[in-house]
Amino acid sequence: MRSVLYFTCFWAICLVYTSVYAQKREYVIVVHGGAGTISALENNPTLKAVYRAALDTALQTGAEILEKGGHGSDAVLATINYLENNPLFNAGKGATVSAEGFFELDASFMRGSDLNAGAVAGVRTIKNPISAAFTVMNETPHVMLSGEGADRFAKEHGLETVADNHYFATPKTLQQIEEMKKENEKNGTVGCVVLDRFGNLYAGTSTGGMFKKRWGRIGDAPIIGAGTYADNNSCAVSCTGHGEYFIRHVVAFNLCARYKFLNETVEEAANYIIHNELNENEGNGGLIAVDKDGNIAMPFNSPGMFRGFLYKEKDSYMTIKKIGIHKELE
Ligand code: ASP
Repeated sequence: MRSVLYFTCFWAICLVYTSVYAQKREYVIVVHGGAGTISALENNPTLKAVYRAALDTALQTGAEILEKGGHGSDAVLATINYLENNPLFNAGKGATVSAEGFFELDASFMRGSDLNAGAVAGVRTIKNPISAAFTVMNETPHVMLSGEGADRFAKEHGLETVADNHYFATPKTLQQIEEMKKENEKNGTVGCVVLDRFGNLYAGTSTGGMFKKRWGRIGDAPIIGAGTYADNNSCAVSCTGHGEYFIRHVVAFNLCARYKFLNETVEEAANYIIHNELNENEGNGGLIAVDKDGNIAMPFNSPGMFRGFLYKEKDSYMTIKKIGIHKELE
C-alpha cells in the first residue's frame, strides 16, 4: 500500500515538474479594462495617461504577487479588485447604469487546474463582485449565484457589501442617470488572465454590464465559457464587448477548443473568433488570453481596448510590459 502511495507521489511530482519546466515564461499577467469606441480619449492625452497609469498599476499589482511566488488566483483577485475599486472602469465602482437607474454587477472566476469556477450575476450590494465569484467557487457546490440570493450569500460569507446601491455611482454615472434618454456608447468590463510559476492558468472578469440594460439582463461576463474560461491544458481567457454575441459564440471556450482540437496558436484562435466570427457588423469587442506556455493574444474589433501585459521570461531578470488603448501598444 505504502509503495503504491510513493509511486503515485513520485509521478505527481514529475508531472508538476514537467509542466512547469515546459513553460517558456516564468509568469504572465494580462489585463483588460474594456473595449469600445473610446473616442473621448483620442484628443485627450491627459486622460489617456490616466488610463495608462491605471492599467500599469493593475499589472504591477498582480505581478508583484507572481514575482514573490504567489498563486495566480491571488494575482487575478488583487488585480481585478484594484480595477473594480477604480471608478474609471465599468466594474464595481464606476459600473454603468441599468435602464431603471440601478447598478447590477456580474463577475466570474475560473481555475484552470480543475475547471472549478464561480460567478455572481445581477448583484446590487457586493462591493467587489470578483471576490464573491471566487468565494462561490471555493465555498459552494454551485457555479453561479444571482440577484438577491447572491447578495445575501456575500453578507453571510463576510464579504464587504454596500448599504446603498448608489455607492457604485460616479459623477459620470449620476449624469447618465439624469440624461438617460441620450445614447451612450460606453463599453467596459475588466478582466485578468494569469499563468503563474506553478503552470496554473486563471481567468477573471467583472462588469457593470451594458448601459441601459433591462429586465435583469445578464451578459457574458459571469457565464463560464462565454466571457471567462481557464483550462491548464489550453488557455485562460477573459472577454469584453457586446455580451450577447460573446454568449452566442461561446467565445472563451471556443478559443480554448480551437487551440486544443485544431492545434491553432492562441493568437490564431483569438484572431479568428474576434475578426471572423464576431466581425465589426456583429459583435463588437475583444478578449485577452494566455496559453499554457505563456503566449499572449489581445485582439479586438472595436476602435480600442484598454489592455496590457507583463511577463517574465524563464531564466531572466527582465520583465516585459506593454500597454495599449487604441491600435498602438507601447
Ligand atoms: N461584456 C459585457 C456585457 O455584455 C460588457 C462589456 O464588456 O462592455 O455585459
